Amino acid sequence: MEKDEKSQNEWKKKLPWEAYHILREKGTERPFQNKYFDSKKKGTYVCAGCGQPLFESENKYDSGTGWPSFYKPVSEGRLETEEDLNSGKVRTEVHCKKCKGHLGHVFDDGPEPTGKRYCINSASLDLKDKKNS
Ligand SMILES: [Zn+2]
Repeated sequence: MEKDEKSQNEWKKKLPWEAYHILREKGTERPFQNKYFDSKKKGTYVCAGCGQPLFESENKYDSGTGWPSFYKPVSEGRLETEEDLNSGKVRTEVHCKKCKGHLGHVFDDGPEPTGKRYCINSASLDLKDKKNS
C-alpha cells in the first residue's frame, strides 16, 4: 500500500483544526456533539486525512456512546491497531494504515457477526455518497 506521509506542518495546513487535533494528536471529540454519531445517511466513510475508504454506512450501528460506531471496517488491512495505555486501562487504538491518522478505538463489545465495536471520531471521517465514489 502506498503510504501518505506528510510532516506535521503539512497536515496542519491541509486539515481543519479539529481533524488535525484528532488525526495527528490523537484527540477525542465530544460525544453526541459530532457530525456523524447518529447519521443514517448511506455511503462510504473515508479517512479525513488521506481519503482512503474505511467504513461502509451499512456496517454502522447505534452503540449509544455518542460516537459513530461500526462493527467492521471495509477491510482490516486498511487499519492498524496499537495498544493505548493513556487512559490508565488498556485500550486498542485504531489508525489509518495509509496516513497513520488516529481514528478512535476498537472494543470487543460490538454486535454480531464480528463482536467488534469500532468507536471512531466523526472528524476523522468524511462521508462520501455512493454515487460519487
Ligand atoms: Zn488516512
